[in-house]
Amino acid sequence: MFSQKLKAQLREAIREVQDHPKPGVLFKDITPLINHSMLFGMLIDALRDRYKLHGVDFVAGIEARGFILGAALAYALQAGFVPIRKQGKLPCQTLSASYSLEYGADTIEIHADALRELKDAHVVLIDDLIATGGTALASLELLDKLQAHCVEACFLISLNELEGLQKVAERVSAFSVLEYDK
Ligand code: AMP
Repeated sequence: MFSQKLKAQLREAIREVQDHPKPGVLFKDITPLINHSMLFGMLIDALRDRYKLHGVDFVAGIEARGFILGAALAYALQAGFVPIRKQGKLPCQTLSASYSLEYGADTIEIHADALRELKDAHVVLIDDLIATGGTALASLELLDKLQAHCVEACFLISLNELEGLQKVAERVSAFSVLEYDK
């Protein structure tokens, strides 16, 4: 359960860095949260409690910070972990999905055998932050291609102004621990 107290502690541990990685971006840096052993543990425990009765087979984490949260959650749920990576990083046969950026497009990939050919595998999709929702929607496309059932798309942070969480919620159940106006 995410009590108001826990949410306040998590929010306090997230550092905001102006103009990173480029001018105009207010970067949400989760490194002070994940290097705090008690808070990191409380975050993962609360997420485990949220999903423990959903028969989760896999947690799929989006590169790169989704790997940190996703691998810890997968362990806590006794589920497998599946990386969703930028194009060209995964070594074996992949499926890919593209999404548009402000300038140009990006492609992400998943291993074709990532779900061990399990039909209707129950998957939690996770990332540290959702902004426009482009990355998460493309990730859902990959899970669709593997005929998975997305239990929920889960984020630590939602930047509400960009409405990504709403877009994802039109497709699957979507949850963000913390919501930010900017
Ligand atoms: P989007 O596809 O627009 O929803 O962007 C989400 C991805 O970009 C996530 O993998 C985030 O880690 C990263 N990201 C976007 N904006 C920020 C931000 N302000 N601070 C930290 N990470 C961000």
